[in-house]
Amino acid sequence: MKDSFDRTIDYVRIAVTDRCNLRCFYCMPANGIPYEPKAHLLSYEEITRLLRVLGELGFRKVRFTGGEPFLRKDFMKLLENTSALPAFESIHITSNGTLLQKHLPRLKELGVTKINLSIDSLDKDRFHEITRRDDFVKVMDTFHLLIANGFQLKLNAVIMKGINTQDIIPLAELAKNHPVAVRFIEEMPFNGGYKENIEMYSARDIYSDLQAHYGTLLKNPGKHGDTATVYQIPGYQGTVGVIAAFSRTFCNTCNRLRISPKGEIKSCLYDDGVFNIRDYMRSGVTDLELSEKFREIIRLKPKDGFEAEKMRKTPKAAMQSMSSIGG
Ligand code: SAM
Ligand code: SF4
Repeated sequence: MKDSFDRTIDYVRIAVTDRCNLRCFYCMPANGIPYEPKAHLLSYEEITRLLRVLGELGFRKVRFTGGEPFLRKDFMKLLENTSALPAFESIHITSNGTLLQKHLPRLKELGVTKINLSIDSLDKDRFHEITRRDDFVKVMDTFHLLIANGFQLKLNAVIMKGINTQDIIPLAELAKNHPVAVRFIEEMPFNGGYKENIEMYSARDIYSDLQAHYGTLLKNPGKHGDTATVYQIPGYQGTVGVIAAFSRTFCNTCNRLRISPKGEIKSCLYDDGVFNIRDYMRSGVTDLELSEKFREIIRLKPKDGFEAEKMRKTPKAAMQSMSSIGG
């Protein structure tokens, strides 16, 4: 369905948990964030119901994220339910890759083959510093297993000034011999209060580094709802992309809604929740009422992330963790 800026909204991102086994410092403080009690999280039956209603409204793509989605015990059950919903052409997952290996055969059976894996450095020690956990070898094993099993893989790397800009080229080199879309993401200020100000390494800076190294970068034509500007390096199997997540240059083609683990709907990543759909559902509303509520939320979707930020009730975005809103 269309919003008031004529954008087709057909993609929902659901953070299935706020819990995580890593502690990436751009996402949360070292001692983590206060987790919501389990009873406050949407149950998988509630998520399935929301997806059914959204499917009837024309949604065709769903991404499960978190926190770490594979930490949730009933996550595979949720994937089974979702794959039985005919509306969803594709099911996507964003994961840190530490817990998914044992689920790989079932994921394949379910046809859930589109995975975004987060790896911010190819240097084991730097990976440890960034994530505050020593899981580099496991995550790289997951990377190779996913490739070997034919998964369609995207790799997410948050690029931070003074931290891992030296990883841009080594990470881009993964696209040389692997069919992987390596995407470099601007850091956003959602770190659960770990730090208030971020020193930006912008999409433009990242692009300059790539261009200085590779010279020719052929821009791929964009697809509906793309946030990444994607480039082909001649002769490479995969691609590299840059996501201006903080500069917000892609809002005019936004196609998404977000749902947080406790059912808070975000019609933009930069708003602080426009409606709690969990409470609404638990008040006993019908599917028709749910559907009407989604229509209203979509109609009111702000023009861009700057407008959404101005409308926030809580001014400090940095106090929120990406883990509780779903990256
Ligand atoms: N735990 C999973 C993972 O790390 O892939 C899924 C949830 S994580 C919040 C989703 C994505 O958000 C990851 O790729 C992560 O790097 C990104 N992310 C988290 N905090 C961010 C921030 N402050 N700025 C930009 N991206 C961020
Ligand atoms: Fe966990 Fe993902 Fe946040 Fe890292 S980015 S702390 S893996 S939720």
